[in-house]
Amino acid sequence: MIRKLLVLEDEDSIRSFIVLNLERAGYEVLEAANGGESLELIKKNRDISIAVIDLMLPDIDGYEVCRRIRAQGLTMGIIMLTAKGQESDKVTGLMIGADDYITKPFSVVELVARVDALFRRLSGGVVASEILASGPFELNLRSRELKKDSRKIELTQVEFMIIKTFMENPGSALSREDLLTAVWGKDYICDLKIVDVNIRRLRLKIEEDAAAPKYITTLWGFGYKWEG
Ligand code: CA
Repeated sequence: MIRKLLVLEDEDSIRSFIVLNLERAGYEVLEAANGGESLELIKKNRDISIAVIDLMLPDIDGYEVCRRIRAQGLTMGIIMLTAKGQESDKVTGLMIGADDYITKPFSVVELVARVDALFRRLSGGVVASEILASGPFELNLRSRELKKDSRKIELTQVEFMIIKTFMENPGSALSREDLLTAVWGKDYICDLKIVDVNIRRLRLKIEEDAAAPKYITTLWGFGYKWEG
């Protein structure tokens, strides 16, 4: 992965400030002032590692940009910038494929730390060439691809990490804290709800009936279990 980012924010002063600080942190940063511009840049730069996307934009909103990125099968990291107190914005963002979110107003130190953390997670050390298999699923750790009955299922990076954690621990009760640590890292401070939201999205992709999950079962008041 290369250290190439996209920052999408319509307010010039905020955007310049974010870009400046991310460049100082050693990233190459492309910038867009509206959704349309960002999608053009993404079309020409398939090697963007992470996109920082503001939710409120003058043309198409940040959700739509996120949706279109994922609809193209692109697995770049996505961090959404959401307004304070809009809990539903965060959940919606995560449901449509964002990996993380930051609430405005944020400190630039926090933003750079989140970008760094996501970048580390996505570049993810050395992965052996191996395949984890469980029931109808096959997870290729090198290509980070999941197949169910030989059919490919598109995953975000976070979903990949969750399913990897599950498949490495079949039949084990995993607490939400366990999953948070395994996927987001132990220094990540966040509402545990981020785990539930990602599980919900993952179920929609892998379960035959997400309302009656067979593979990822819920352990009420504790966490989740992968039924191997
Ligand atoms: Ca805005």
